[in-house]
Amino acid sequence: MRRILVTSALPYANGSIHLGHLVEYIQTDIWVRFQKLQENQVYYVCADDTHGTPIMLKADDEGITPEDLIARMEVEHKEDFDNFLIEFDFYGSTNNLATREIANDIYGKLKNDAKLISQTPVEQFFDPKKRLFLPDRYVKGTCPKCKSDDQYGDSCEICGNTHVPTDLVNPYSVISGETPIRKTSNHYFFNLSDDRCTNFLKEWVSKPDRLQPEARNKVAEWFKDGFSDWDISRDAPYFGFEIPDAPGKYFYVWLDAPIGYFGTFKTLCDQRGIDFKSFVDAAKSKSSQTELIHFIGKDILYFHALFFPALLQFSGYRTPTQIFAHGFLTVNGKKMSKSRGTFITARNYLESDLNPEWLRYYYFSKLNSSMQDIDLNLDDFLSKVNGDLVGKFINIASRCAKFINKEFSNSIGPTKDHGILKEILNNKGAIAASYETREYSKAIRIIMSLADHVNQYIDKKKPWKLIKEDKDSLLVVCSTALESFRILSLYLKPVLPQTCQEIEKFLKIKPQLWKDVDCFFTSNHQISPYQHLMHRMTKKNMQKLTNQHANEKGTSPKSHGGESPADSNKINVMTEKFITIDEFTKIKLKVARIVKAEHVEGADKLIKLQLDVGQNKLKQVFAGIKSAYSTDELEGKFTIVVANLKPRKMRFGLSEGMVLAASNEKGDIFLISPEKGAKEGMEVK
Ligand SMILES: [Zn+2]
Repeated sequence: MRRILVTSALPYANGSIHLGHLVEYIQTDIWVRFQKLQENQVYYVCADDTHGTPIMLKADDEGITPEDLIARMEVEHKEDFDNFLIEFDFYGSTNNLATREIANDIYGKLKNDAKLISQTPVEQFFDPKKRLFLPDRYVKGTCPKCKSDDQYGDSCEICGNTHVPTDLVNPYSVISGETPIRKTSNHYFFNLSDDRCTNFLKEWVSKPDRLQPEARNKVAEWFKDGFSDWDISRDAPYFGFEIPDAPGKYFYVWLDAPIGYFGTFKTLCDQRGIDFKSFVDAAKSKSSQTELIHFIGKDILYFHALFFPALLQFSGYRTPTQIFAHGFLTVNGKKMSKSRGTFITARNYLESDLNPEWLRYYYFSKLNSSMQDIDLNLDDFLSKVNGDLVGKFINIASRCAKFINKEFSNSIGPTKDHGILKEILNNKGAIAASYETREYSKAIRIIMSLADHVNQYIDKKKPWKLIKEDKDSLLVVCSTALESFRILSLYLKPVLPQTCQEIEKFLKIKPQLWKDVDCFFTSNHQISPYQHLMHRMTKKNMQKLTNQHANEKGTSPKSHGGESPADSNKINVMTEKFITIDEFTKIKLKVARIVKAEHVEGADKLIKLQLDVGQNKLKQVFAGIKSAYSTDELEGKFTIVVANLKPRKMRFGLSEGMVLAASNEKGDIFLISPEKGAKEGMEVK
């Protein structure tokens, strides 16, 4: 019996689970369920990655504490995972005591024993109004190359240029709109460039099966480039764990989130009385031969294959046994887009009345052990579910069960036709090997070809004719087909746990383990009356999915440099011309009174407005209405303002909203005003 701790990457707690994330969780869950069927002792743990500036700012925006925000997200994420039948042994949060203690322990050992922690001054952009250092994605400005406005600090979405925030022309803070200033502070670094790390990693990655061949090649390139030290600290204000001997400094993601793998597992161990050290301690895990396996997206390979093992090695912890990296998801062949991308969330999928097992099945049919991207082609999805899953597999039961139910009072007879059964059994090893090596698409090819053969067997024997001519043969054929169906359902059990549970109920057998593959029905075994096991996907389901306008903008910018799969697995779906009421209600429209209107030096079209938006709050807005209105006639007028538009730094100053106006092709402009009696601050709905 193997003893394995398995993890999936931790989803970041400021966004929803989407179909890109689910590639990884479904891949891992299938592998874990297969291991459990083999009666290995496997623990599958995961957690919300809860720390960092984005969480702090999002909570701030909503006027709640970060703790409240992450508690809410944890509930949402857990629900999504449950719905997609992802069966964690424990799902937690990185914001827990166990993770903090392990992070402190690792840091202490790296610093005091291994002497692999150093301090270096780092210059970063600082928001003078919010008084915090700005992650790259929180600085925007004009692209230094193509001069497009509103580009992120790390890359330009228009021309693809990559840069650092300080390269931007007219940079501004996304949070306050202010021009950021350069400020220096001491950061803590893990010295990955130290020879001890390099020498250790050279040996570590060379172990066969540690990494996939493509991952090994990638790592070899990184070795050529040489390693740099890794920044592991951030300055207050920050939501996370304060570094024990450094007040005002916090562990940055690299010395926090992945420690959550262990912290989460520790909580499970405490609950179930599992020996934690036999899985995580360097010496003890060796003697107990436990395994540690990380499933990850290819974007966090550098971290898991280099930084993390070195971190663990030099702090007395065990290093990962294997790392399984996978590619990203595209939808209908469209590449993921960054923050402007649209994506289908787990909830969009469920709300389209699509069966979660369909997606599990589809991903299973596409995945292999490589890091290649997989494509969710919606037509292919429909045809695989209806044609293969329902049409070939489920169909076996629906074709034969009714004869057993009606003609033989639910009683299975002898299964004399061993040819087909033998073929199915003979493939047991190949299918198990495909699960083990994550060659899922190979497993499904074998299973579906076996299902084809069972259907051909039924076609050839023609039970609908036998019912009139030869009842004995009818019993043999239908019993053989149902026996075949039982074995195929065991082969598919890691993929379709719910349906297979229904099948076990229908066949009146105990929950099957892998070893039960050749436990044939005993004579006169009774089954239940056949009930529909799975319906077909309709075009309507598909339309619902694409009409969901899952085109929410990407969740808030992330500081975590790809730590969360959310960064990389964003996917595109066709943008629809309708928006949902939810999308509309995101726009906050308010009645505003124009307190002051001024001409803007050097601007032909703009008027600078000071708007009273209620509660004595003033907003400054630049409006392109100079051709139609004089400043005098504007002052005192009521209009409608988009109140929650992100502040935008313009050449003339900060614009904190937008006033609404109608216009025609000639360029005439008509400011929108509410009826008499409306007061500043009233909401427009
Ligand atoms: Zn550009």
